Amino acid sequence: MKLSKKDVIKYKLGRLSKVVKCGFHSGFPACCVKFYVCDWLWKTKKEQRIYYKSCPNVGYVPCPDCNKEQRFVQVKRCCGKCITGEGRYG
Ligand SMILES: [Zn+2]
Ligand SMILES: [Zn+2]
Repeated sequence: MKLSKKDVIKYKLGRLSKVVKCGFHSGFPACCVKFYVCDWLWKTKKEQRIYYKSCPNVGYVPCPDCNKEQRFVQVKRCCGKCITGEGRYG
C-alpha cells in the first residue's frame, strides 16, 4: 500500500514525540534532535542521501553545525521500546 503525501506527513508527525524522546535518551545533542525532526524528516530521499554522505558514520544524523565542527557524541543504547521494528529513528 502506498501512502499519499498527506498520510506520510501525518505518519511522520505522529511519530515526532517518540523520535524526540528516543533522541534524548540516545544521548543526541538537542541541536541534532531539532535538526532531525524539523529538517531531516522532511527532506526527500535524495536530499537525505546527499547529506548523509557528507557526514561521518557516527550512528545518527548530526546537524550541519555539529557536522561542520566535527562535534559528535557517543550513541547510547535505545531502550528498544520507543521505536521498535523500524531501526533507530526509522
Ligand atoms: Zn529509544
Ligand atoms: Zn547538533
